[in-house]
Amino acid sequence: MKKKLNNELPRCPICKGGLAAKLTRGRKSGKPSIMLICPKDGRHFRGFITDRAYVEGVMNIMESKTKINNGVPDGH
Ligand SMILES: [Zn+2]
Repeated sequence: MKKKLNNELPRCPICKGGLAAKLTRGRKSGKPSIMLICPKDGRHFRGFITDRAYVEGVMNIMESKTKINNGVPDGH
């Protein structure tokens, strides 16, 4: 009975792997946003989500699963 990893995050439409979530900050707005990227190949899928509720939700996931993104904040 393995619990699926990233079961609360979308999956890559190409390789069906769980997308990696990175916390970023808008260069102009300074608002936090989430970058979802396929960890296998960034050309598969890459998206930015700025919806505040979604960002907060993903941040909560990242806090509880510190292994996501190796806990390294994205400085871009
Ligand atoms: Zn992929």
